[in-house]
Amino acid sequence: NKHVVIKHHVEDAPKECDFEIKISDFALSVDPGSDDIIVKNLCISVDPYQISRMKRHSSSHGTITAVEPITPGQAINGPAIGKVVASGHAKFHKDDVVWGIFNWAEYSLVKERNIIKKIESFEFPLSYHLGVLGFNGLTAYAGFFELCKPLKGEKIFVSAASGATGNIVGQYAKLLGCYVVGCAGSQKKVTLLKEKLGFDDAFNYKEEKDLNLTLKSYFPDGIDVYFDNVGGEMLDAAIANMKAFGRVSICGVISEYIDTGKRCSPNMLDVVYKRINIRGFLAPDFMNVFEEFYEKTSDYLRTGKLKVIEDASTSMESIPSAFVGLFKGDNIGKKIINLA
Ligand code: NDP
Repeated sequence: NKHVVIKHHVEDAPKECDFEIKISDFALSVDPGSDDIIVKNLCISVDPYQISRMKRHSSSHGTITAVEPITPGQAINGPAIGKVVASGHAKFHKDDVVWGIFNWAEYSLVKERNIIKKIESFEFPLSYHLGVLGFNGLTAYAGFFELCKPLKGEKIFVSAASGATGNIVGQYAKLLGCYVVGCAGSQKKVTLLKEKLGFDDAFNYKEEKDLNLTLKSYFPDGIDVYFDNVGGEMLDAAIANMKAFGRVSICGVISEYIDTGKRCSPNMLDVVYKRINIRGFLAPDFMNVFEEFYEKTSDYLRTGKLKVIEDASTSMESIPSAFVGLFKGDNIGKKIINLA
């Protein structure tokens, strides 16, 4: 059974040499009376949040880790779609297709609690259940609609806008009738946002010298809603450009994951006097709106109103470079490992 491990705790930005592909013996059968389930991965998601699990943890800076740390040599788990190969659990049967938290491996031995959902409909490609119909879609939906309560015509700014979550936020905002500007890290991504995904405007943040002035030029009257995927200086600049009663959804702070020196330090007087509502969140907190999100998003997909941007690799060996690439902006859209 091929599986991916970290060789040591990851320092700063992840590198391919931090990882190793291991091969171990693995029995493909379970005891009939047990509640063990063996899943063969068909599709694996690589997600930026995993970096926090791979770092050496210390409580000295007061960081609260909502995710379980990964120890070197230990199998890494994360969102994946798999096919049941053997099951001792009455609810799951051979050949069931399931979405859950499985190992970055060919096969995983799991329990019922690791399975989020049995996939019953095959209307869409399986990979969609890891992106647009999975946690990225739910993150976009909950962080935008539930937390920011956007209104038609409002001005929306999205960072990492061509990424797995950001591109969906921008498209939801356009479907609602908002004015949407996104930023991304290359001209190719900027063109995609404007020409394929219908953003009103977009810019390459790597080419901007003064982000505060850049945002002022795109939002002369201010920003109503900022969906933040990156933190750092972009968040400082966005806060400086928010309108009174603006809302900021802090989805993630990827620029800070690998460089804590970049930690954002917004002007809190702006926050107070403009009565800005800033809210961090985690997608699993919003499983209560999952069905509503899933139905609406499926409808948008059926009618072609929502476009899906995926970036697939196809082997276990490609997992380290796929993961490392998230922090270099290599991916366009949802990064997945398609093993089917
Ligand atoms: P993405 O597909 O957006 O991949 C990461 C992208 O982030 C890269 O392609 C890159 O695009 C951009 N990026 C990388 N490093 C930097 C940097 N230093 N500064 C600015 N942009 C950078 O992944 P996701 O959509 O999965 O994740 C986006 C964010 O959302 C992350 O912070 C993640 O942790 C968070 N997240 C949070 C969830 C929650 O429950 N709260 C759930 C899912 C994701 P570019 O070329 O534009 O730089």
